[in-house]
Amino acid sequence: MSLVKNRHNTRQISVGNIKVGGGAPIAVQSMTNTYTQDIDATVAQIQRLYDAGCEIVRVAVPDMEAAHAIRKIKNALELKEINIPVIADIHFDYRLALASADAGADGLRINPGNIGEKWKIKAVADCATALNIPIRVGVNSGSLEKDIVEKMGSTAKAMAQSAMRNIEILEDLGFYDIKISLKASDVERTVEAYRLISTMTDVPLHVGVTEAGGLYAGITKSAIGIGMILADGIGDTIRVSLTRDPVEEVRVGWEILRALGLRKRGPEIISCPTCGRCRINLFDIAEKVENALLKCPLTIKVAIMGCVDCKGFTCS
Ligand code: SF4
Repeated sequence: MSLVKNRHNTRQISVGNIKVGGGAPIAVQSMTNTYTQDIDATVAQIQRLYDAGCEIVRVAVPDMEAAHAIRKIKNALELKEINIPVIADIHFDYRLALASADAGADGLRINPGNIGEKWKIKAVADCATALNIPIRVGVNSGSLEKDIVEKMGSTAKAMAQSAMRNIEILEDLGFYDIKISLKASDVERTVEAYRLISTMTDVPLHVGVTEAGGLYAGITKSAIGIGMILADGIGDTIRVSLTRDPVEEVRVGWEILRALGLRKRGPEIISCPTCGRCRINLFDIAEKVENALLKCPLTIKVAIMGCVDCKGFTCS
C-alpha cells in the first residue's frame, strides 16, 4: 500500500527544462550560499549540487552585480554541460528581477506584495511573460503583510491568505506561470498552511520548512514536515533547509522522496547501528561507502553490516 495519497492536481509550469506540477516528478531544489557575484565559487557549488541530484537551484540577488552575474553563471554552466534551471531570488527591488530575467534566469522568486506599486509588479510579470519564465511567490511566516498579521497573526490561515493575495495580484495581470511556497519554521504551521492552500488553488506548490536549523533539528523537522505534506499528496518541488552545506539539503531531499516511495536516486544504504559484536570501524566505513556512491546512478541497495551472523535479529 502506498504511503502517499493521490497527488493533488496542480497546473503544470516549466522551470527551464524541468516540468513542475500536473503530475510531473517532484523536483529537488536547493539554494547556493556563495556570493552570487563570485562566479567561480557559485558555479562550483552549483556543480556539486547538480552532482548530488539538485534539479532546480536558486541564487540570491541582493544587488545589480549579482543580477548581472547570472549571465556568466549560466554561460559557465553551459560550458560544463550542466543543465539546471537557475532561479533568481529577489526581495524588494523589481529592477533586480528585470535585470536577472534579462541575464537569463530561468525563473524569479519574488513576493509581489513586497515589490510595491502595481506598475512595478506588472513590469516584472510582463518581462516574465515575454521571456517565458515562471515566478515563484515565497510566503514566509516571518514576513507576512502587516495588515494580514494584524487581523490573523502569523498563523497558517494568514500564510494561506497572503499566498492567495499574491497569486491574485499576478493572475489579475494575466500571469499564470506561478509556483508558490508557504514556509514557517515549525512543522505544525507549515503542514497546516500547505493543507489549506491546496484546497484553494491549483498553483503548483514548492514545499519546505524554512529556517529549520542545523543538521539534527533541520533534518528532523524537514523529514516530518515535508514528509507529512507529501504523504497528503501535496507538493510539486521540495527544498530541505539546513544551516549546512546545501549539498546536504539535496541528499536529505532525495532520502525523503525515497522513504515515501515517490522517487529514487542512487543506491540505498542499509547499515546496522552496531553493537558489541562489531569488530570493525563501521561508522567510518559506512561514511566512506556513502561518499563513494554519491554519484552512482544505480538504484541498488548496499548493505553495510557490522558482523556476519546477525541476519537482523539484534540490529532492531
Ligand atoms: S549486524 Fe547487528 S549484530 Fe552485527 S554488529 Fe551490527 S547491530 Fe550488531
